[in-house]
Formats: sequence, C-alpha cells, structure tokens
Amino acid sequence: MAVRAINGLAEMVEEGLVTPASAPALRPVEEAFRIRMTRAMRDRVDTADDPVARQFVPAVEELTIRDGELGDPIGDETHSPVKGLTHRYPDRVILHVTKTCEVYCRFCFRREAVGDEGSLPEADLVAALDYIAVNPAIREVILTGGDPLVLSARRIKGLMDRLAAIAHVDVVRIHTRIPVVAPEKITPELVDALRGPVVWVVVHTNHAQEIGEAAEAALGRLAGAGVGLLSQSVLLRGINDSVAVLEELFRKLMRLRVKPYYLHHCDLAKGTGHFRTTIAEGQALMAALRGRVSGAMIPTYVLDIPGGYGKVPLVRDYAEPLGGGLWRITDWRGGVHGYRDPER
Ligand SMILES: *Cc1c(COP(=O)(O)O)cnc(C)c1O
Ligand code: SF4
Repeated sequence: MAVRAINGLAEMVEEGLVTPASAPALRPVEEAFRIRMTRAMRDRVDTADDPVARQFVPAVEELTIRDGELGDPIGDETHSPVKGLTHRYPDRVILHVTKTCEVYCRFCFRREAVGDEGSLPEADLVAALDYIAVNPAIREVILTGGDPLVLSARRIKGLMDRLAAIAHVDVVRIHTRIPVVAPEKITPELVDALRGPVVWVVVHTNHAQEIGEAAEAALGRLAGAGVGLLSQSVLLRGINDSVAVLEELFRKLMRLRVKPYYLHHCDLAKGTGHFRTTIAEGQALMAALRGRVSGAMIPTYVLDIPGGYGKVPLVRDYAEPLGGGLWRITDWRGGVHGYRDPER
C-alpha cells in the first residue's frame, strides 16, 4: 500500500493544502511545531479548510501565544518518578513509549514534547517497568506518547509480554490515533500482539469525516480480537463545536463498538487559542446532547487542570442542594423539579 505521509510545509504546498502565497508566513510555524499528515487523512479531506484539513494543516494563528498558554499544559513533568513515566493517580501510570506520531495535530496538548526523536530508550523502559513491578498499587498501565502504535508489532508484543508478567497489572490501556489516521497499521500481527493482557484501546478522533472505510475495518479488527474500545475527542472551535457534528461522531463511534469516553476541553498548549472554545460553550453543547442521543454515547467533558492536578469533569449542575435534604433538579429540557433525598 502506498502510504507515504505528507511531511513539512513544502509537501503541504505540493498537495494543494497550503497555497504558495501563504507558505512564507507559515515558515515560523514549521520551525516551532512539526508538520505531518498521513495519506489516509489526506484522502478524507474535501477542501483545504474542512474539519479534517484544519486539524493537520499549519495556520499562522499558531504563532499567537495567549496569556496562560504553557509548554507542558497538563503537567506531565510534575509527577514523573522515572523517565517516560507519569504517576499522578495511585492506581494507574502513563508510560510515554515514544514521542513520534503518524500525524501532528495542530492543537496537540503535548506539541512541544512530541517529535521524531524515536522511542523510549531500552534502559529507561526497563527502569519504568521496574517501577511498575515494585508498586503493587498500580493496576493499570496506559501507553501513550506520541502514539504508542507507531512501534512495530514485534516491539508491542514484547512490551505486552513484559506487562502481562507483572501480576498486579490488570489492564493495559493504549491511547492512540492510529486506527483512524493510519488504519493500515492495524495489521493482523499487531492485533495478535494485543491478545495477551486485557487491552483497552482509546482512539483519538474528533470528527466523523476522519473515519473512512479503512478506519472502520481497523476498528472492526480490534473489536473482533476482544480489545475494548473507547474514544477521546478534543472540543475544537470550528471543527466539532456543534451539537450536530458531535452527535454524528458519537453515533458513528457507537456503531463501530467504540464507547465515547472523554471530550477534552482544549488544553492551554502554545498557539492553540484559535481552536479553544469557552467552558460555558462546551457545557452548553453537552447539555444539548443529553436527551438527544443515548446516554451510553455521551462522553464526560473534562478539563485537565494546568499544573498536573489531574482531570475533572466539567459537568453543569443538574442537582443543587438547597439544604435539609431538599434538592433542585434540572431536567434535560431545562425543567426544574424539587427532589427530597430520604433521610438515612
Ligand atoms: C489522563 C491521565 C490518566 C488517565 O486518566 P483516566 O481518567 O483514568 O482516563 C492517567 N494518568 C495521567 C498522568 C493522565 O494525564
Ligand atoms: S496524535 Fe496525539 S500526541 Fe500526536 S500530535 Fe496528535 S494529539 Fe498530539
């Protein structure tokens, strides 16, 4: 399969995704942040400013750094006991197995950490696995990056075997964009590598237009192998910040056996302000989805608190305590109801 990716600004121009006239102004963007889009994503683009193109094609707005935007917006570095590993919550760790991705999303929360520097050196991986092995409180290991599935099937298999050998690790979770952006990489060998421990794959996808037939087939291969499937999306201004777009995405994911898990408020990464909605806008979208689509396909809208304090749901209050066991409850249409919580 010819799957050569589009790398850098010059190739974006060759592909007609950036006009020659606008290229010079984008050179500083290329110096600051890597540019890459897979052939599979190129094939999903209809027009140069559509919701797929805008996620990967550089824009001059990326040069605007707004107040509060940070190099490490979610504080990965604040809870890192050994290189490549973040241990923020007692029962789970994230392991950055590589810094490389198949695509470089213009809104990436780790945009200053990702790049083609390759995978975590073996010595650091050994230290990270040793840390997991001696900490029985760790029940779940989350592989992230970069994109962990850029590693070869053979290396993934090796890693799965080593994780399966740690008795207290119940679940391996893999955070990846590859089933959607490079579905041809979900090969039978890779699927086989995921048959050892209990594996959940959390697919990053933001718009139904990204998910073509090849991606549907790749997700089908994972589901067929007994891999649990969840999704995470980033709420992006002008891309998926409408009820209709989110509804179409979540309905499509459910049909593909993928349970929408998180909708992330766009993190404060540098040069991403043009993609960010307000929290109030995000909450209004979530409220509009409630009642309109099945509860099973509604993800949790979350904020990763800057500074490394973890994720919190940004739920709008449906229940407000009035004191004395009385609650003010708001239904999905906005109707207000009193509820008395029986005393115990
Ligand atoms: C997001 C994240 C997790 C996973 O959180 P869940 O709410 O379990 O999905 C774990 N560790 C770190 C450091 C994270 O940023
Ligand atoms: S795939 Fe994930 S880690 Fe890689 S650039 Fe996109 S958002 Fe960032």
